[in-house]
Amino acid sequence: MACRPDGLDVLVVGSGIAGLSAAIELSGQRRVAVVSKESGGGGSTRLAQGGIAAALGAGDTPEAHAADTVRAAAGLGDALVAQAVTDEAAEAVATLARLGAGFDPGSLAKEGGHGTARVVHARGDATGAEITRALLAAAHQRDVPVMPGIFLVDLLISPDGGRVTGALVWDSEEKALRRIYASTVVLATGGYGQLWARTTSPRACSGDGLAAALRAGAQVADLEFVQFHPTGMDLGRDPRPLASEAIRGAGARLRDSEGEYLHGPEGAGDLAPRDVVSRGMARRMAELGTDHCYLDATMLGPDAKAIGARFPTFVAACLSAGLSPDRQWIPVSPTTHYTMGGVLTDSEGRTTLEGLMAVGEVASSGLHGANRLASNSLLEGAVIGRRAAQLIVAAGGPVGPRPVVPLADALGAAGASEHISGHALDRDSLRRAVQAGAGVARDAEGIERLASYLATATPTGPDGPGTWELTNMAQVARVVAALAARRPESRGAHWRTDHPTPRSSWQVRQVVQQLGGELAVGDLAVNEPVPAELPAGRYPAAVGGPTAITG
Ligand SMILES: Cc1cc2nc3c(=O)[nH]c(=O)nc-3n(C[C@H](O)[C@H](O)[C@H](O)COP(=O)(O)OP(=O)(O)OC[C@H]3O[C@@H](n4cnc5c(N)ncnc54)[C@H](O)[C@@H]3O)c2cc1C
Repeated sequence: MACRPDGLDVLVVGSGIAGLSAAIELSGQRRVAVVSKESGGGGSTRLAQGGIAAALGAGDTPEAHAADTVRAAAGLGDALVAQAVTDEAAEAVATLARLGAGFDPGSLAKEGGHGTARVVHARGDATGAEITRALLAAAHQRDVPVMPGIFLVDLLISPDGGRVTGALVWDSEEKALRRIYASTVVLATGGYGQLWARTTSPRACSGDGLAAALRAGAQVADLEFVQFHPTGMDLGRDPRPLASEAIRGAGARLRDSEGEYLHGPEGAGDLAPRDVVSRGMARRMAELGTDHCYLDATMLGPDAKAIGARFPTFVAACLSAGLSPDRQWIPVSPTTHYTMGGVLTDSEGRTTLEGLMAVGEVASSGLHGANRLASNSLLEGAVIGRRAAQLIVAAGGPVGPRPVVPLADALGAAGASEHISGHALDRDSLRRAVQAGAGVARDAEGIERLASYLATATPTGPDGPGTWELTNMAQVARVVAALAARRPESRGAHWRTDHPTPRSSWQVRQVVQQLGGELAVGDLAVNEPVPAELPAGRYPAAVGGPTAITG
């Protein structure tokens, strides 16, 4: 490894938009380094297509953007966080442009759930790739070390259990475990979409940072809320390529597997919010006993080249599978696309643990609630990444924690039970089980089957990143199943066919903490200030530390 980042002020884990935004803001002010387990920014950022939302159009305001964000969040969005993020959206886009991101001039796109056109994009549908290119170049220019091939294994904790002091990492070049000490660790490890067999999330999104934070005793929230995108493409690829909403915005139509329009000849329903379209598709697929619908984009151009001029990523994916979208319908089905749950933070990235911050998709800041508004996640990473960095600079030392949420109920064991004869778990079986039990349509029976399967499942494999990822996925999946089971209502992206409506008594966020090998859960009312006298987050004595998964 070119640089040994020992004794850092700030260790950023993850080189997507959130981690790089934080690191670039810190450069020149703090000794900072970025590590990531894969090269070239292996997370979701580089795959983002549609764009980044900001109130830039004539007559648009951050307040209107915040209102749309909260509306999409189905009763669980934090209005204060939404306002804080949308207030800084224009500045975040300007900063990305200053850093070199070449946004397409002139046109703002309108996406589902937004009251007006406010989505900025770059190189058509290659927004994330352009942002990644620009941020990596900007980090390089500012001498911020960005080190690929460094896998976060666990967080390091001070001997008194009061503070995160760095990270235990696997250095894939040296093939060795190392400790990197830092006053503050910023987790920017992305989401946990890889838990599902059908996902657009890349392999890197296995919930590693979330699981490490959980083991360290941080509170996590909202894990049952997972956004399903209606048009993940069934082309035999993993992760699935995405047919962005903009393609339906341009006139493409959804058809069932028998060729009938899903929403009638007018197709007004084709552009309803993602959760609504996904549920409609799931119902129709169940009726017809099939596992896909079709996206008909044949009307968008006389040939693939013409369609490709507007949607190059989409057309390239079709052609690579031998399908020409000017002549053929493309098989699609609801696909896990964004994970709303994560490490509980405030709007500046503080977690419940001193010395630990979380930004981007790994975090649950309250911005997205039960359902994310399209193009708000790149925005969240850019804004809260920068806010976290500014807080670190202002704090002058380790950043203090946000208050913890009181815990009320036991939620079960954090790991597989040692007392029941278990079964070996591999990645594919885990993903299939999560897809079956916690997919678009959920019910008590299916979730219980998943929970029982996970309770006796022991991840197997040689010590190393593959097995650690699997362990992390199993730990996160247990929490997903437990929270999905505990929430007896349908809200946002969480659709319980046995409890089909929202319940006002469940207008609360579920917050989980690992205590001595057991999980405990509490409820957090939306926007409710946490009482000041509650203790700051502390590590439960028997939890956390590198030994948790390294053996
Ligand atoms: C196909 C697709 C299209 C999308 N389109 C849009 C869009 O148009 N607009 C929008 O707003 N959002 C979009 N999203 C969502 C958005 O891309 C993500 O929410 C966002 O990019 C997350 O950024 P991040 O920085 O939090 O994490 P990521 O970009 O996912 O980066 C995570 C980083 O953490 C690293 N990492 C993970 N685990 C470890 C570990 N154990 N050790 C070390 N490093 C680790 C990874 O290697 C990676 O560098 C899309 C997502 C997908 C999958």
